[in-house]
Amino acid sequence: MPYRAWFQCINEECNRAYPLNQIIYRCEACGSLLEVRHDLERLQRRDAKAWMKLFDERYRTTEWPYGSGIWGKKEWVLPQVDNDNIVSLYEGGTNLFWAERLGKLFGLEDLWIKLCGNTHSGSFKDLGMTVLVTQVKQMIADGAPIRAVACASTGDTSAALAVYCAAAGIQSIVLLPKGKISTAQLVQPIANGALVLSLDTDFDGCMKVVQQITRDPTIYLANSMNSLRVEGQKTVGIEIVQQFDWEVPDVFIIPGGNLGNVSALGKGLIMMRDLGLISKFPRIVVAQAENANPLYCSYLKGFETFEPMQAKKTLASAIQIGDPVSVQKAIRVLKQFEGVVEQASESELADASALADKMGMFACPHTGVALAALIKLAKRGTIEPGMRVVVISTAHGLKFTDFKVQYHDRKLDFDCRFANPPIELPPDVDAVHRALDEALQRRESLHV
Ligand SMILES: *Cc1c(COP(=O)(O)O)cnc(C)c1O
Ligand SMILES: [Zn+2]
Repeated sequence: MPYRAWFQCINEECNRAYPLNQIIYRCEACGSLLEVRHDLERLQRRDAKAWMKLFDERYRTTEWPYGSGIWGKKEWVLPQVDNDNIVSLYEGGTNLFWAERLGKLFGLEDLWIKLCGNTHSGSFKDLGMTVLVTQVKQMIADGAPIRAVACASTGDTSAALAVYCAAAGIQSIVLLPKGKISTAQLVQPIANGALVLSLDTDFDGCMKVVQQITRDPTIYLANSMNSLRVEGQKTVGIEIVQQFDWEVPDVFIIPGGNLGNVSALGKGLIMMRDLGLISKFPRIVVAQAENANPLYCSYLKGFETFEPMQAKKTLASAIQIGDPVSVQKAIRVLKQFEGVVEQASESELADASALADKMGMFACPHTGVALAALIKLAKRGTIEPGMRVVVISTAHGLKFTDFKVQYHDRKLDFDCRFANPPIELPPDVDAVHRALDEALQRRESLHV
């Protein structure tokens, strides 16, 4: 009997199921989001040890497509797809490193960073997009009349969609909030041949338009309300546990905007528990920018209510979202993982990124939000010195050079504590000597 997966309504009173090749994003009966469900009984016929062995054998090999961090776990992700239709750029398999110096600053001995940005398009969005574009390619191969795949984006989703579609030979359409994404993020879909629509609104505005446009069944929706994305993204937690030789860390910290990623993180860990690979859960911390913090506000009220808000401008542009699509899924996950939500102001997130860079990282502003949350929780004692903590770094810092240039030029409207602007000098050896002496002395007295 083959492995099977299907869409199922997340509303437990409804639970209606749909096949994965149906073009559907919300439940027809009740309007709730859907999630991909797997035939767990079938998966349980292989025991936990055998799954770990299989995943380890495939991990980062060149055996196509199983060397991909996603497709090495194909049976848990999208089992029914033909390998011939898989659109993979060897996503996942990213480095996880011990941030020794950074951790010590906050009294943490066991701080790790998972660099999800070290992947094809430079953000974790690749993890989900490989799955979604693969399913589309399968559907087209089976005769579905899909002309294009569309998304609204704060930058990284559109970059991932455009590049996977380019690799598959499928047309992509991206709707971007005008002037609200970085130059690198804008040029990525342009270079990869997407139809780029720049709308004079914010992300939430783009999201509304794309949902209307994709009522046309020939234009497939690629936003994370399409739960195929979550299936790929859920491997991040599985991969981290695998990298620790199948030991579960104590705490995960993840920045959250539309909240698909934290929902996915939880989903992967739950699947590992259900299939016997792990027996305990980590704590999950979601970090939000103070300027776009609807989940944080809900957390303060014990998640009893949730109010969407108008997100204000934040340097962490990929999480400038006031009305997150996956909020229900995220709250469900946080309730199971002793969830904490923390927030970071603009100066906190920028200083945390800059400090991390000084300790050997090159952090994007969203990772800065997660690091600022880490600092607060370590000071407060919620995170204790011996705990193994993993910060999920969501994008490559090079996508956000605009942000770093502004910081180090002190062009931001707060005191940029760790700014390190270049010293401008005439081409004169004496002047260079003097400047070096002075600067080295100053640094030695600062110790940072
Ligand atoms: C998309 C994105 C996020 C937020 O993920 P959500 O699933 O929207 O919560 C965080 N950081 C970066 C760099 C992103 O691209
Ligand atoms: Zn339903």
